[in-house]
Amino acid sequence: MNNIVDLVIVGAGPAGLMAAKTAAEMGLKVVIFEKNKSFNHLKRACSAQIILDDGYENEFVQVSQGMLEFQKNNFKVKYSGPLVDVINKFYHSPNGHKIHFAHPNRKPFAVKFDKNILLNDLLKECEKLGVDIRMSTLACGGKDIGDHVEIDLKSKNKHYSLKAKKAIIAEGVNANITGVFGLNENRKLFTTAHVVKYILEGVNSYEPNSWNLYYGKAYHSNAAVIIGPSIYGDNIIELTLSGSANIRPKLIYQKLIGNSPLKHIFENAQIIDIHGCAVKAYMSLKKPYIGNVLAIGDSAAFVEVEVQGALMCGYRAAKAVSDELNGKNGFEMYSDWWIDSFEFNRDEYLQVSQGYALVPTYSDDDLDYLFSLLDGKILEGTYSQYKTPKLIWDSILSKKEKIKLENPDIYVKISNMNKLTLASSF
Ligand SMILES: Cc1cc2nc3c(=O)[nH]c(=O)nc-3n(C[C@H](O)[C@H](O)[C@H](O)COP(=O)(O)OP(=O)(O)OC[C@H]3O[C@@H](n4cnc5c(N)ncnc54)[C@H](O)[C@@H]3O)c2cc1C
Repeated sequence: MNNIVDLVIVGAGPAGLMAAKTAAEMGLKVVIFEKNKSFNHLKRACSAQIILDDGYENEFVQVSQGMLEFQKNNFKVKYSGPLVDVINKFYHSPNGHKIHFAHPNRKPFAVKFDKNILLNDLLKECEKLGVDIRMSTLACGGKDIGDHVEIDLKSKNKHYSLKAKKAIIAEGVNANITGVFGLNENRKLFTTAHVVKYILEGVNSYEPNSWNLYYGKAYHSNAAVIIGPSIYGDNIIELTLSGSANIRPKLIYQKLIGNSPLKHIFENAQIIDIHGCAVKAYMSLKKPYIGNVLAIGDSAAFVEVEVQGALMCGYRAAKAVSDELNGKNGFEMYSDWWIDSFEFNRDEYLQVSQGYALVPTYSDDDLDYLFSLLDGKILEGTYSQYKTPKLIWDSILSKKEKIKLENPDIYVKISNMNKLTLASSF
């Protein structure tokens, strides 16, 4: 087949670039498309923290000497940028009760990194390996012909299409091209969140190296208001706000700094930069491939695989394509690995609704009472959005009898909440 490359990749995020690099290392002819012009001024919100929890996404990631090392999947990724340790995590109630997570020896459970630098490092490696990288190019359609795939592209008002034996869709969470190839059929869309990250200087009372989640109506959001470190220094923090088309993050910001328990910390704050995005929360794909097309990373996930998960998907996907081209069931093997590795693919994960249901299920007074039960206690240091609610609720429920006696209404809410599924929590 003339003029047909081995592999076309839609999206040069961590998943797409890692797939391109690995496939090129295996000798495949690869073309990758990215709608952005460059990675130097990314405007898409991402907290960019590598999670060091043992076994998270069935992997053990180590960060040292300019490398991210994936011990189980057995590969390394170069990273030449700065790192900031995340040592403490706090869940705050409206009236100042805190749930504290940390390792006993204060070893970091996450490290913040510079995503622009990580992507540029990967891009340089792809360039060296001869990957055909086409920036400022939007994939806008495509079809699977049977023995090859065609992707429709738009670059500076020029429309063209490109043929490849296999396609990897690594377009991120909004999964549009994934839908073009039919992978979103019968895929539940729960909600679309609007997320804005404010990078702020001069915020008072921020404890360095800590990740803080504020819960309660007093903070004007159903989602947690998050304050965490930035890579720019201790006096610059990142504030992340999640809303919707109806409750815009900008409105939450104005209310938060104007009238909330956090008002005083923003008195001297200056906005340095703003990043944002809309995030579609689809149910994950249990079978992320169809014909010659494999969807990877956030495109196939329930919300997000995180950057480290995206790198793992890219690495595994390239191997899957190579296997397919050699007559093996590479996509099926990828699918088995995908199901095993990511917690959102498992049924117990539906119980994570407990974590999402704090607001509005519980009133601000309820949250003060529940968080006060854990004052002074330090729970295991973890970043994981799956493990955290479990640790909190296991700890709260160890005081079940006390709650039943002191606060029977809350006890009833807890009992009802445990019956919720993920879908009903949305
Ligand atoms: C608010 C927020 C906080 C987060 N915090 C963290 C964190 O602390 N740690 C962490 O590891 N992860 C975090 N994440 C998640 C992380 O950003 C993603 O899981 C990860 O980037 C997924 O990588 P990906 O390659 O699958 O997709 P993406 O990173 O989204 O990359 C997709 C790429 O495809 C391009 N693209 C899309 N459509 C097209 C098209 N049609 N044609 C051409 N190009 C296209 C996009 O421009 C983009 O460059 C966060 C996400 C959000 C929203």
